[in-house]
Amino acid sequence: MKCPFCRHQELKVTDSRDAIEINGIRRRRECLSCQRRFTTFETIELTMQVRKRDGRYEDFQQQKLITGMMSACRRTTISHEQVLALASKITADLMQKQPKEVSTTELGEIVMGDLQRLDPIAYIRFACVYRRFKNVEELMDAIQSIQAKDGNI
Ligand SMILES: [Zn+2]
Repeated sequence: MKCPFCRHQELKVTDSRDAIEINGIRRRRECLSCQRRFTTFETIELTMQVRKRDGRYEDFQQQKLITGMMSACRRTTISHEQVLALASKITADLMQKQPKEVSTTELGEIVMGDLQRLDPIAYIRFACVYRRFKNVEELMDAIQSIQAKDGNI
């Protein structure tokens, strides 16, 4: 790595700390030539392709997973930290299995399985996006399947 200011190659790390929002590490670096400081981020790179509904592929991005889950979990009992923890767990599980590709549908099912245990409202919101219920009956079926599992809500 080179200094972004003077391109000098000798840098020292002055501070390292966890950056939980990206499940990575943030480092403060100082250039030994110009003494200027800057920050770098180190994150997990999971080389897995996500197959979308239209057949196109894109690289797996944990941030996309987090964004999708965040919007489903807004104003529910699930905290920001729980979403980040869940996204890290899902990413770690995938890394362990190391599939070459995963479809958005499979990814959605994994997330839904976890959300269903945490908060039924977040689950239904997420399912509305991922399952694309064709009509109210399908949505009702999903709600009833939760009620059947939980006894009563
Ligand atoms: Zn420099």
